Amino acid sequence: MSARGVTVLGATGSIGQSTLDVVRRHPDRYRIVALTAHRQVDRLVADCLEFAPQVAVVGDPASAELVRARLADAGCRTAVAWGEEALVAAATLPEAEMVMAAIVGAAGLAPTLAAARAGKRILLANKEVLVMAGELFMHAANEHGATLLPVDSEHNAIFQALPADFRRGLAACGVEQILLTASGGPFRTLPLSALAGVTPEQACAHPNWVMGRKISVDSATMMNKGLEVIEAHWLFAAPPDMIQVVVHPQSVIHSAVRYSDGSVLAQLGNPDMRTPIAHALAWPERIAAGVAPLDLFAVGRLDFHAPDFERFRCLQLAYDVLRAGGTAPAILNAANEVAVAAFLERRLSFAGIPALIEATLAAVPAGPEGSLADVIAADAAARRFAGTRIDGAAAA
Ligand code: NAD
Ligand code: MG
Repeated sequence: MSARGVTVLGATGSIGQSTLDVVRRHPDRYRIVALTAHRQVDRLVADCLEFAPQVAVVGDPASAELVRARLADAGCRTAVAWGEEALVAAATLPEAEMVMAAIVGAAGLAPTLAAARAGKRILLANKEVLVMAGELFMHAANEHGATLLPVDSEHNAIFQALPADFRRGLAACGVEQILLTASGGPFRTLPLSALAGVTPEQACAHPNWVMGRKISVDSATMMNKGLEVIEAHWLFAAPPDMIQVVVHPQSVIHSAVRYSDGSVLAQLGNPDMRTPIAHALAWPERIAAGVAPLDLFAVGRLDFHAPDFERFRCLQLAYDVLRAGGTAPAILNAANEVAVAAFLERRLSFAGIPALIEATLAAVPAGPEGSLADVIAADAAARRFAGTRIDGAAAA
């Protein structure tokens, strides 16, 4: 068996590094074709030296020059490119059968969509792609025969708990409900009075998972779960009412599916992203992921609670935009990206995140998600509004 080509978009991030860790364990099965990063030059150079990809892509010409020089010094023949066109080219290289989509946020849309149009097997972590352009992306994947394998742990769990032919329709398969589990983040039980003043450090200290900073803040506001409701809607053609969020603080059940006969099928495991990554890489086979076996005696108990939509306003907003449809989810996503970046830079309070998103949704009109241009225009309008409002508040 020859090794299968893999491109990793967002290789230097949390998911990207976990992907390389799984690939490293199976050199006979996988070979790295391209690696991309934004500005983390040191990490990218080290990974190029280890995996010798054909191509490495970075965000700007100065970083590209730096990577090029360091690779040349080390005698590594990886070609180095930069910018969005180079990302799209990396996502569509014929040598790569699989593309791990692990860029964070809207920056991943163009290359991930290009991978879908190139009919790749897409290991999808970059949930913002489906939130922004779910209809277009699913259409492109179907049209061009791309295979979508969810890497987000909940969606990977749901995928594992669904029958292989779920695309003929969930109702036809006897599915009554998708139970999307959520840890509840670090602030599940914090007194409401203290919530407004939490810091980026507190928000990024997730109780169960080590992740990038943006998704860590999203988990703290529960916007992450809101984005995942939208992600589940598109991946599984599930109506919003079929998706129930279940707060489960131990993060051992990664999600479940309830069937008409009363059966509930769940996927369990330690909270380690290498499990869904290995599942998506090897599917329909199974490979070792380096994850410790789940010790149910050590876990002891599993708790479940209903979500608190008042405390976690972002979760409600996500259901609202999903029901509204069109470009409303793209507007929510853009406002959230602006809000989270401002929070991490201490220019916006934690309570300011849902407030800014709500104000943006009220001010920027949503339209139909007709084309990619519609999505990009809605995204830009929302970023403009949200950015101006933060700057205005800072100046006041
Ligand atoms: P991260 O911040 O650790 O890494 C992001 C990667 O994207 C890095 O390689 C970075 O260089 C690259 N990047 C950032 N901005 C870019 C830009 N403008 N252009 C090109 N590349 C850019 O993020 P992460 O935690 O690995 O998350 C990646 C994606 O996976 C997100 O969409 C997140 O929601 C999703 N996800 C992450 C986890 C997790 O456990 N970390 C779990 C489920 C889903
Ligand atoms: Mg998740």
